[in-house]
Amino acid sequence: MLIEFNQVRFQQGDFILHAHLSMPQGKMICLLGPSGSGKTTLLRLLAGFETPQQGKILLQDRDITHQPAWKRRLGYLFQDLALFPHMRVDENICFGLSMDNIPKEQQKMRLKELLTLVDLEGYEKRQVQQLSGGERQRVALARALAPNPACLMLDEPLSALDASVRERLGRHIRKIQQYQNLTTIFVTHDQDEAMRLSDYIYIMKDGEMLEGGSPEELYEKPVYSWTAQFLGDGILLPILAEKSNKITTVWGDFILEKNEDIEGLTWKKEASNPIKKDRILIRPQWITLGRGNKKARVLSREFGPKGYRLEMQFKDQNFILYSQKNIEAGQWVNMECDKVHRLRCL
Ligand code: ADP
Ligand code: MG
Repeated sequence: MLIEFNQVRFQQGDFILHAHLSMPQGKMICLLGPSGSGKTTLLRLLAGFETPQQGKILLQDRDITHQPAWKRRLGYLFQDLALFPHMRVDENICFGLSMDNIPKEQQKMRLKELLTLVDLEGYEKRQVQQLSGGERQRVALARALAPNPACLMLDEPLSALDASVRERLGRHIRKIQQYQNLTTIFVTHDQDEAMRLSDYIYIMKDGEMLEGGSPEELYEKPVYSWTAQFLGDGILLPILAEKSNKITTVWGDFILEKNEDIEGLTWKKEASNPIKKDRILIRPQWITLGRGNKKARVLSREFGPKGYRLEMQFKDQNFILYSQKNIEAGQWVNMECDKVHRLRCL
């Protein structure tokens, strides 16, 4: 493991962060959680701007808990950018290298590499103020990459950009990360962005690591209902009765895969998150229309790039489905659930 947070506890004011997690080398790891969940705080601890009251932070098995920030060789792209507005692009990118007294010739070579990497060749003499939001963000990225950091930390690098720039720059960052095999911690509160760009996601909520997994694992088999809802559309059904692996709900009976509910529970903190009741999750993609014996009604229909967006009703539940078939509002249609997943209510 490249980075480990070992039973870390950090308190600032009323806010308490608990972190016990590890991050592998060369991957894109996302910290995903709502605003105020402690994502920036966790990065600041890793960067060395804050020191935990308890626990240890390890970098390549070395204890860096009390090491000053400048010794850690970590690249940090701050949430509020912090480029020097009155400086040129090249001065911004090479700022850290100058501070480290890297010879001018070497700086020039590195600058050229970095400008190519972030697709800003020819921009070196421009003033930062003359750049667009996306270009500025690429300058900031180049500056964070300049010292060849052991790990790159990106705090909501895309949140201030327009949707199209944001998507493009996200892919660009992912390409750089994969091409350089660079361990990158990417902070976001945007679920889609997290799922598209990362190898691994940690879900943060109220200063706790709720659970972690690959985007596919977290989307398809989350441990908690909170995660399931945070990551996308889905229907949550209470369990009415249970007999071995047969579960009864208002939607009928479902047979569960054995023991699938217990896996992955190493992340939670049982003490502060008491288990209330389990639920059954059904993702829209797990429902097939046109077969099965459940008769659902189409309440409304919209056409869009993903096909028809149907607002459906079955029993007391309203839910959204995407379908390639055009079904008029008001029609009744058969449906079947090909898959369900059991999770804990939180
Ligand atoms: P996120 O990045 O997930 O939005 P933060 O890590 O910035 O969340 O903040 C987590 C919590 O810590 C918030 O409740 C915030 O109000 C609090 N907080 C942040 N900075 C300070 C500070 N310097 N002093 C006291 N509390 C702070
Ligand atoms: Mg933040």
